[in-house]
Amino acid sequence: MIRITRKVFDDLAIWMVGFGMFIGIVFPYFMLLMGVSGAIALTWWFRTACILAGLFVGVVNIALARRVVGDKLRLLADHMVGIEGNLKAISGKNEAFDCSSMKCHIPVDSADAIGESSQAFNNMVDTLSRSMHTEISIRTYTQMLTNHLETDKLCSHALDSLLEISGAQGGAILVEDSGEMRLISSFGIRKPEVLLDNQLLLNVLKTESRNIVDIPDDLMLDGVVTDFRPRVSILEPIKYKQIPMGIIVLVSGSLFRDDLLDTLDLFSRSLALALHNAMVHDQVQRLAAIDPLTGIYNRRFGMTRLHEEFVRAVQIESAIGLLMLDIDHFKGVNDTYGHSIGDRVIRQIANVAREALREGDILIRLGGDEFMAVLLGASLHDVSLTAERIRRQVEERAISFGDQRVQVTVSIGGVSFPEKEVAGEQELIDAADRALYHAKNSGRNKVSF
Ligand code: GH3
Ligand code: MG
Repeated sequence: MIRITRKVFDDLAIWMVGFGMFIGIVFPYFMLLMGVSGAIALTWWFRTACILAGLFVGVVNIALARRVVGDKLRLLADHMVGIEGNLKAISGKNEAFDCSSMKCHIPVDSADAIGESSQAFNNMVDTLSRSMHTEISIRTYTQMLTNHLETDKLCSHALDSLLEISGAQGGAILVEDSGEMRLISSFGIRKPEVLLDNQLLLNVLKTESRNIVDIPDDLMLDGVVTDFRPRVSILEPIKYKQIPMGIIVLVSGSLFRDDLLDTLDLFSRSLALALHNAMVHDQVQRLAAIDPLTGIYNRRFGMTRLHEEFVRAVQIESAIGLLMLDIDHFKGVNDTYGHSIGDRVIRQIANVAREALREGDILIRLGGDEFMAVLLGASLHDVSLTAERIRRQVEERAISFGDQRVQVTVSIGGVSFPEKEVAGEQELIDAADRALYHAKNSGRNKVSF
């Protein structure tokens, strides 16, 4: 249609009124053709009446069009404005955009272009709502991932989030650690350890590609029992730089949404990155705390632990015992048998001491052939029993290599707080050191207090 103005309804008005008047003008001639006498059809009053009638029909038509079509379009525009306001209000907040209610939808009540436009608009809002949902879940999920640095906690929170996002009722996260698969976290699966030997899982790890298993037709859940009736399961590989790190298992009693399948890859990749960081963090923590030769605490971390436990003992008015242990004539062992046998002796002493201590006690390699043990809640009597047990065990055990046997002894100094009144842990260490010095000076292979 030829446009006359910039407004559709003004154009329509001009066309409708113009066409009405045109009909009014030609109508008398039409009457002539129909056999009506010119004395009536061509009179000025008949012509005026026809033009006025055409004008009237045009005006009524445009009023009806404005009312029927205009109101619908205005409703559409008002909804769009309202939804835009909603979107602006929630952007930046981690709130889900709920479009399930009628507040986002235009009622579709006409089976024509207007109805189709309304339906298209509703569909668009639904799609937008879903993508906002996804965006918010991704944002919340990645925020959660950055909040955790320990592998176990990270996996347990990641699994909680994934269950919530996917609507799955059960799941597990398995991670490969030093070439071995470990089950880190699981929910809703009875005896989840069975997953570790599951052939489908191992295949996913090998092929590095997702497997969606329809449970009624497959035997994937061979031996894996869930707390609910499973319908479908997703096995999603966790890959970091193309290297498989583990698997996410999600099991649901109903089918998963299509959009979940589109985004799961992203969730898995974010988890891989966070998991990699957590593993590096665990490793750094280990390196910072553990003596590589013996696997027990090193001096730096051990001292921190002693400080914490001493403060705690003072607070809860409990005893705390300290043993200082040094291998006798260890230089001689190195000189006679070599450094590597010396290392084995150091490891052996650490093992003997560890076995003699109670759970929760702390064993530290201070350096060289010197060890310290922190005995929680131990009186001087407890300290002396433990020290004597270690001394005897070391004396009785010997390291064999080839046809040679290396036999060593240790000297131990012991002390216990509050029987020994001290102001801080350093004074306790000094006292234990003096006792050790005494043990060495009184012939070695001795326990002194
Ligand atoms: P003492 O009875 O007075 O303790 O005599 P000792 O020979 O044991 O003297 P000391 O404790 O001073 O000697 C510690 C020796 O331990 C010195 C060093 O060569 C050796 N050493 C220190 N660290 C290591 C280690 O990691 N491996 C081995 N094999 N030897 C070590
Ligand atoms: Mg020594």
